[in-house]
Amino acid sequence: MEKLKILILEDNKNDLEFMKDEIISELKYEFQFKWVITRNDFTLAIRDFHPDLILSDYNLPQFNGLDALKIAQSYNIDIPFIIVTGTLSEEAAADAIKSGAWDYVVKERLQRLPRAIENALDLKSVRLKARKVEAELTLMKGQTDIQLKLLWDAIDKAPGSVMVTAPDGAIQFVNRKFEQVSGYKSEEVIGQNPRLMKSGRHDEAFYRDLWNTILSGNEWRGEMINRNKEGDEYWEDVSISPVTDFDGNIRYFVGIKQDITEKKAAVEALKKSEQWYKAIFGNTGTATVIIDADGTISLVNGKFEELSGMTRAEIEGTKKWMEFVIPEDLEKMFSYHKERREPGNRSPNQYEFSFLSSRGGLRDILLTVDMIPDTNKSVASLLDMTERKQILKDLKESEEKFRLISTSAQDGIIMIDTNGKVVYWNPGAEKIFGYTFEEMKGKDLHHFIAPEKYSASYPQPLRNFQKTGTGAVVGKVVELQSQTKKGASIDIELSIARMQMPDGFGAVGIVRDVTDRKRAEAELIRAKEQAEESDRLKSAFLATMSHELRTPLNAVIGFSDLIDANMPMAEIEEMVKIINDSGKHLLKIIESIFEISMLEAKSTRLRIEEFGLPEFFGTVKSFVASELIKQHKEHLDVAFRPVDNFTGTSLKSDRSRLFQLITNLLNNAIKFTETGKIEYGYSVSGRTITFFVRDTGIGIPHDQQDLIYERFRQVDDSHTREYGGVGLGLSICKGIADLTGGKIWAESEPGVGSTFYFSLPDSVALAPEPETVKEPLRKTYDFYGKKILVVEDEENNMSFLETVLKKTRATLIFAHNGEEAVQQCEKHPDLNLVLMDIKMPVMSGDVATTLIKEKRKDLPVIAQTAYATPIEVERYKQIGFDDYITKPINRDHLTEVLEKYLR
Ligand code: ADP
Repeated sequence: MEKLKILILEDNKNDLEFMKDEIISELKYEFQFKWVITRNDFTLAIRDFHPDLILSDYNLPQFNGLDALKIAQSYNIDIPFIIVTGTLSEEAAADAIKSGAWDYVVKERLQRLPRAIENALDLKSVRLKARKVEAELTLMKGQTDIQLKLLWDAIDKAPGSVMVTAPDGAIQFVNRKFEQVSGYKSEEVIGQNPRLMKSGRHDEAFYRDLWNTILSGNEWRGEMINRNKEGDEYWEDVSISPVTDFDGNIRYFVGIKQDITEKKAAVEALKKSEQWYKAIFGNTGTATVIIDADGTISLVNGKFEELSGMTRAEIEGTKKWMEFVIPEDLEKMFSYHKERREPGNRSPNQYEFSFLSSRGGLRDILLTVDMIPDTNKSVASLLDMTERKQILKDLKESEEKFRLISTSAQDGIIMIDTNGKVVYWNPGAEKIFGYTFEEMKGKDLHHFIAPEKYSASYPQPLRNFQKTGTGAVVGKVVELQSQTKKGASIDIELSIARMQMPDGFGAVGIVRDVTDRKRAEAELIRAKEQAEESDRLKSAFLATMSHELRTPLNAVIGFSDLIDANMPMAEIEEMVKIINDSGKHLLKIIESIFEISMLEAKSTRLRIEEFGLPEFFGTVKSFVASELIKQHKEHLDVAFRPVDNFTGTSLKSDRSRLFQLITNLLNNAIKFTETGKIEYGYSVSGRTITFFVRDTGIGIPHDQQDLIYERFRQVDDSHTREYGGVGLGLSICKGIADLTGGKIWAESEPGVGSTFYFSLPDSVALAPEPETVKEPLRKTYDFYGKKILVVEDEENNMSFLETVLKKTRATLIFAHNGEEAVQQCEKHPDLNLVLMDIKMPVMSGDVATTLIKEKRKDLPVIAQTAYATPIEVERYKQIGFDDYITKPINRDHLTEVLEKYLR
């Protein structure tokens, strides 16, 4: 048996023993006692001793029974605590019992202690039992609480708002969702009427219906707009049910509400979008219809009414789409229609067809058609292209006209846009400038066709034009210089018109190539000037001729008139000399005219031969000497200036022509020089020889230096000319230069002098032989024992021939005219050869030869002639000449020919 543990708090040892004795003697238990006096020991004993019962004194030195009771209770409320005290007032005892003491025993009546202990132990066991029941009850109650809690949780956390009201509407409960949706805290709404959330958007009848329904015990369902704490409205799907007690009395209303604001907004948006579509459908610029699967038109818009000429009511649900399509297009449309409904549809969404309108007959329509997704309907929009097509057609026609005009135009047609870039360039422009349209497209025009020198002057006016559409050349026809792709400079006539474009001004230019016209114009002007000039020249020529021809003729006629038989012989001889000189002068003029005509008629042929320059200039020298005398200019200082190897050079050309040329130049030099000197000579460069004749004469004005080669051209063509001549000398020189392939030019300074040059290319004979080598090679002729008659009227010629022929040791006899020649022939029967001049006074060479040949057929007669034309040569043959040599006479040629007849 377990011992009953009793803790005794007592400061008096005797009392302790009495208590023990009383207990042990009276109670049938085994006991274990623990005696404590201090508070500390008491506390420790409760914890470690685990007493089954506590006996405590009421008054202790530093402690008392009530404090001990508190400590014990705080540890275990079910330990019986009995106060054992000496004296105790009624109030103290009541206090102790009130504080939880189980009993109290007065020490004077200690015999009650066992009873008190037994009672306390019984009470303890009852208490413990009660405690157990209580615990069980508590446990049971806890489980119900859990279930309730779960239920509340479910309601509280329900996704919908829950509101419970009393029958009078006062809110009893709201859940968390309600708080979220309404913005009100539970405590703010409990006891309030739900009208707190009224939006005012529903009328009285709405609420009346609600109350009538729920008060009659039915559930009310509906959508309601409420207002949250912030004042914002929200839609709720509301169900309100009454909750009744067993007697059928309404105890609560339970409202369950779903926030449907978003759903409402979506529905609203859908509605709006439907309205939009309706508006778009109705107001779209194109006629639009909706066609059902069977082809019935179910919806049309206003534009379709206009197009068809029928009202909506007449069409919708009645008319078939195909009734508006012309029969020709029906088949095509059916097949598209069918294809469109098949998988892998490839029918076009857009095509043209002809629409049958009751309003305006046939219309050209561009149809755009497609299925409406997830339906069997199609939507078709019809764009009326009739007018547009007509405009396009007109435009095409006008374009075609423009194209035809512009492609066939000879003129260039060019268009530039507002940036100055080429946008059109017709074939005419291609032809004029050589650039194709492809090359010019989008390019800056002036970079291509404006000459380089003008390039800087284009951009500014162009910019100005682009902005203002004005410019110096706009609206005018101007002549400009331009250039082609090949870089050729051309003259163009340009007319520019402006084109108003949205972003400024462009231009169209018509270009005409007037290069040929301008050239022709210039040529015409030149020809006109030339004609005027030649007219003037003709007059000058006539004046000159009349002067030049009249002067000697006057002398001939005048002096021949004067001569009569009574005149002394010396005077007659003098007059005859004048007449003769004048005649010769006339002859010279006529010869010149003849010469120039021949040259210009190109009937002169070159006689190319090789001849040495020393010999050539020897002859020239003789000419100069005689000319100085003739022109009475012996006082002039004349010098020949050859190059160093003068003696070795020989030329291959027409010797007599060159002689004629050089002597003409020398003649002029002598004629136009009064004082000073004349130099002549040549220089050689490669195979080109350049002759020069320099004088210190009157010079030639600069503007005349190119003109003096023209026929009859004289610097001074006044009637009272100081210098003789007919203005043919230089023309002849020029003619010879052209004929021989040479070039003649002059450098001259009026009052200072002139230098004439004549250069002849490819004329210097190759590998000229040095004089030392050449000299022995020159053939020496020996006509010793031969007698030659030289017939020549010109003293100079005569002396030249004499010089040459004397070297051959021939015997020479002379005659000065044909008559003398005939006489000499008669006088000298031993004559071996006659060298006969043609043009001579008294009797010409022709006549003399005829006479001589009549008598002495075998006597060789050689003609000296300046005119070796084929006709002349033939004539000489007819007359009886055996051969001819040309004047001026070439020494070698002369001796060569003579040898042929003297051998
Ligand atoms: P011409 O001498 O018979 O008048 P040309 O044809 O030989 O005819 O010369 C034409 C013109 O050229 C001359 O009239 C003269 O005015 C000028 N001229 C030619 N040679 C000279 C010169 N050496 N010095 C000055 N003027 C000259």
